[in-house]
Amino acid sequence: MKILACVKQVPGTNKVEIDPVTGVLKRDGVSSKLNPYDLYSLETGFQLAEKYGGEVYTLTMGPNQAKTAIRETLAMGAAGGVVISDRRLAGADVLATSYTLAQGVRSAGDFDLILCGKQTTDGDTAQVGPELAEHLGIPHVTNVLEVRLAGGAEEEEEAGAGASGDMRGSYGKLLVRALRDGLIVEQLVAMPCLLCMEDGVNTPRLPSYRRQKAIREEQIGVMTLDDMKDRNEKAYGLSGSPTQVVRMFPPQKREGKEIYDGPEEESADRIFGLLRERKMI
Ligand SMILES: Cc1cc2nc3c(=O)[nH]c(=O)nc-3n(C[C@H](O)[C@H](O)[C@H](O)COP(=O)(O)OP(=O)(O)OC[C@H]3O[C@@H](n4cnc5c(N)ncnc54)[C@H](O)[C@@H]3O)c2cc1C
Repeated sequence: MKILACVKQVPGTNKVEIDPVTGVLKRDGVSSKLNPYDLYSLETGFQLAEKYGGEVYTLTMGPNQAKTAIRETLAMGAAGGVVISDRRLAGADVLATSYTLAQGVRSAGDFDLILCGKQTTDGDTAQVGPELAEHLGIPHVTNVLEVRLAGGAEEEEEAGAGASGDMRGSYGKLLVRALRDGLIVEQLVAMPCLLCMEDGVNTPRLPSYRRQKAIREEQIGVMTLDDMKDRNEKAYGLSGSPTQVVRMFPPQKREGKEIYDGPEEESADRIFGLLRERKMI
């Protein structure tokens, strides 16, 4: 299985300021880290590759310093990784970001499975994965808890215990469990496909010191707009971004706050009484 995990480098702190004029995060001088949600999708990729055979590659779009994020994934076990970095891509909103990633995926080769995190800790939209799948014209599932190859030995065993007949032997498909409105839905998805993993679904591995040493001299590949099939600059960066930040402002502070710090039962009674009084329950 050839797997691609999309990862993003995010600020390592939540004290990031926003430029009030452009509405863009001020990233200069701010420490960075791998988006914590991407660690779960990466780990899913590693586990699938170990179980069924295959390799995990990583892709990120960001400034040149995002090479550090790719290097970290290599130290965890990725077979290779690429950064899409180009000044002409700056200021991209979700549409332009997912379009750029789709172009990058097309240039990087064929993949059976693309993995994304649930969301990022900075942009936080959770839209890049589904939009990337749409640009590539492949199916996707979000909020994924578990994934395995349909028709594997494990599956055959379980099929005897109730799985539907056409699930047997359906190689080339993944059996995916995902959260849907408080229920867990089990579905078959034909590869190539894209999955957005939920957080906390596994225990992400740490970068290995041995691999860190081994890849120290390795050059991280950089893709620019010139490597894309679509080189029309208008489709990328700010000009490819229909979203415009009109105004940025802190939320209004709520006055009249009351704090109950007495014993739990007493506080619960007071809150209950207050909610009834305001006809909220
Ligand atoms: C008008 C506008 C201007 C913006 N300008 C800038 C700017 O100048 N600089 C800037 O950094 N941001 C900018 N942003 C934010 C930027 O659009 C988002 O950070 C970006 O689209 C990713 O969305 P997200 O962080 O919400 O990802 P989500 O959709 O929450 O991420 C879900 C998953 O998608 C994958 N993913 C997301 N982003 C990437 C990536 N870059 N590379 C690889 N995989 C990824 C990861 O697997 C991640 O877990 C701008 C946003 C808007 C609306």
